[in-house]
Amino acid sequence: MTWRLEIALQTPAHSALGDLLSYASAEPLAAGTLVRVPLGRREVMGVVWAAEAAAPDPQAEKVALREVAGALDALPPLNAAWRDLVSFAARYYQRSLGEVALAALPPQLRDLSAVQLARRLKRQDTAGAQPPVADQSAPTPSAEQAQALARVAAEPGPFLLFGSTGSGKTEVYLRAVASLLERDPQAQALVMVPEINLTPQLEARFAQRFGAGAVVSLHSGMTNPQRLASWLAAHLGTARIVLGTRMAVFASMPRLSLIVVDEEHDPSYKQQEGARYSARDLAVWRGRREGAKVLLGSATPSLESWQQSRPPSEGDAGGRYARLEMPSRIRDPDNGGAEAALPGVRLVDMNLQPPKTVLSAALMDAIGQRIARGEQSMVFLNRRGYAPVLACGDCGWKSECPHCSAYRVFHKIDRSLRCHHCGFAERVPRACPSCGNLDIAPIGRGTERLEEHLAELFEPVRRPDGSPVRIARIDADSTRKQGALEQQLAAVHAGEVDILVGTQMIAKGHDFRRITLVAALNPDGALFSSDFRAPERLFSLLMQAAGRAGRDAAYLAAQGSTAQMWIQTHHPQHPLFAALAEHDYPAFAAQELDERRAAGMPPFAFQALLRADARTQDVAQAFLQAAAESAQALQEAAQVSCYPAVPLAIQRVANVERAQMLVESGSRAALQRFLAGTLPTLHALRQAPVGKGVIRWLVDVDPQAI
Ligand code: ADP
Ligand code: ZN
Ligand code: ZN
Repeated sequence: MTWRLEIALQTPAHSALGDLLSYASAEPLAAGTLVRVPLGRREVMGVVWAAEAAAPDPQAEKVALREVAGALDALPPLNAAWRDLVSFAARYYQRSLGEVALAALPPQLRDLSAVQLARRLKRQDTAGAQPPVADQSAPTPSAEQAQALARVAAEPGPFLLFGSTGSGKTEVYLRAVASLLERDPQAQALVMVPEINLTPQLEARFAQRFGAGAVVSLHSGMTNPQRLASWLAAHLGTARIVLGTRMAVFASMPRLSLIVVDEEHDPSYKQQEGARYSARDLAVWRGRREGAKVLLGSATPSLESWQQSRPPSEGDAGGRYARLEMPSRIRDPDNGGAEAALPGVRLVDMNLQPPKTVLSAALMDAIGQRIARGEQSMVFLNRRGYAPVLACGDCGWKSECPHCSAYRVFHKIDRSLRCHHCGFAERVPRACPSCGNLDIAPIGRGTERLEEHLAELFEPVRRPDGSPVRIARIDADSTRKQGALEQQLAAVHAGEVDILVGTQMIAKGHDFRRITLVAALNPDGALFSSDFRAPERLFSLLMQAAGRAGRDAAYLAAQGSTAQMWIQTHHPQHPLFAALAEHDYPAFAAQELDERRAAGMPPFAFQALLRADARTQDVAQAFLQAAAESAQALQEAAQVSCYPAVPLAIQRVANVERAQMLVESGSRAALQRFLAGTLPTLHALRQAPVGKGVIRWLVDVDPQAI
């Protein structure tokens, strides 16, 4: 008897081949089995999605089916819950099933033969689930922690843990995982963090609590063999806890019982290429499908999650999430129970400063006081490089990128002009390329130039022991080499740095004990951005940055001092800063939600972006416009608004013109049906005259940047 298998393969995105291809097999392979099959002249890996007995008369098949080349059947099949997650993600984000399925598997799996895999599995510890090693260095939960944990144990969730920085959210995650693992000897927990560079410290905390054998990591910074080993441990159930970045949401975990999403508001949970999924949103979906509890945590939740966790009120049943609040920072038992106060916020009105002021005198003085006391300060500026533009004062030449609608950034360290969009780099010209003027000068300031400026400012200042002030910089440039970030962070922790300069990289997550002052130098751009989420991002970034200061309550109490967050701004009256000064996220959220409600924007509406790239802006826009016009025939069109096609904020990158069209609806379901109905149109238009010159198109559902 022959079996007909429907197999998910990584066909090119949006290919006309459809989602599943049929193959013949002598064995009725179970759904979820990994197989190798011929595709064209290649042999590729696929996942069996369905098997049925083939039609008895082979003539009934229009085309003779090709045979499956082999099954990786040493591996247990991917279960139905995993396949459902993949199907849902593919459908929701408008991609092919095979693309999502294959991208969710470790790359090395594709290269292994059945024999190699069997050998690999033998080496893998298949001794069954690792019993976690309990650690009781575990602190006694605070009252707020205990209350949050009691609700997690008693209610179904999903939960939004709204806890200020330093309130002990991580401890809640650890305990929620611990009680789960104790209850069920095979249960597994998935813990997600937004950034790779936050995984090592979290991994250390989990490994200390549960033993290294119980925990594996999954993120893109790992080598392929490491990723395969982690994936197998999760799939076989030997790893009780999987820690990872957004990709980990697709980890195969047969006994998944708890999903934690730390810093759930972080934009890096949204994948920005291929299937543009939100790992946070998929986590919630997956939790419901698998009956796993979902715990989202943040000091500044996304407005979507905040709204979804609103308590019931008159005429409103409330959101679907249970909100758990931990407003207090952990009290320090070594310090008679003092609570580390959140830093006091000081706004410097830059309108009152002398022109061209970089660091106001008051801020410089405050940093000087920190140095005198042997404390650390952190100054952050969200722009790397030396200066964003190099310009000629005579003829007006500027360091534009020849391939993008953007300036190339001046990096002084290697005297290069580098485009941060297409990567095009050149040595800085000696003279103005346009008029020959020798005096070309940087305009504006990045972290590299700020570091240099601070070095000049603090050159005359001495540390208590008479030695010079030590300044360090951490950003994407300074940490390019493997291990550089760890080294630089270690130097900060060891107290070898007095002033740390950096981008938002240093604002997130790190538990710096000696930093008592944080300063944001130029955050104003986000106040007036065309992206409606910019204020939300800025608020959470500044709250996170503030959370880096004054983490050592005992020290501050002994000094009789408090931590400070400084903000230099031209708009000190902006309501965002008023809420920030009070550390009042709910006030900020209420204000933003009112605006969003009035404007009909998310979370009160649902959005998608259609994007087209082409050689000219006209071609890209015409393509989108044509798609929108044909889509008007769809039944859902009445419930969906298509805005006119517009260029992206950075319109041209690497000589490609980019256009987008915002599609919006008050109904998520209507938007979904509309997009699904538009997809065939887009495929067809691509082949039509209007699609000539279109390089690619894509759909971004629930886009995070407009
Ligand atoms: P968050 O994740 O909310 O920023 P953490 O979980 O990192 O906070 O906790 C902040 C600090 O407080 C950490 O050093 C942690 O070890 C400590 N901590 C957490 N919970 C307790 C507790 N119940 N008792 C004593 N210390 C605690
Ligand atoms: Zn010139
Ligand atoms: Zn460029």
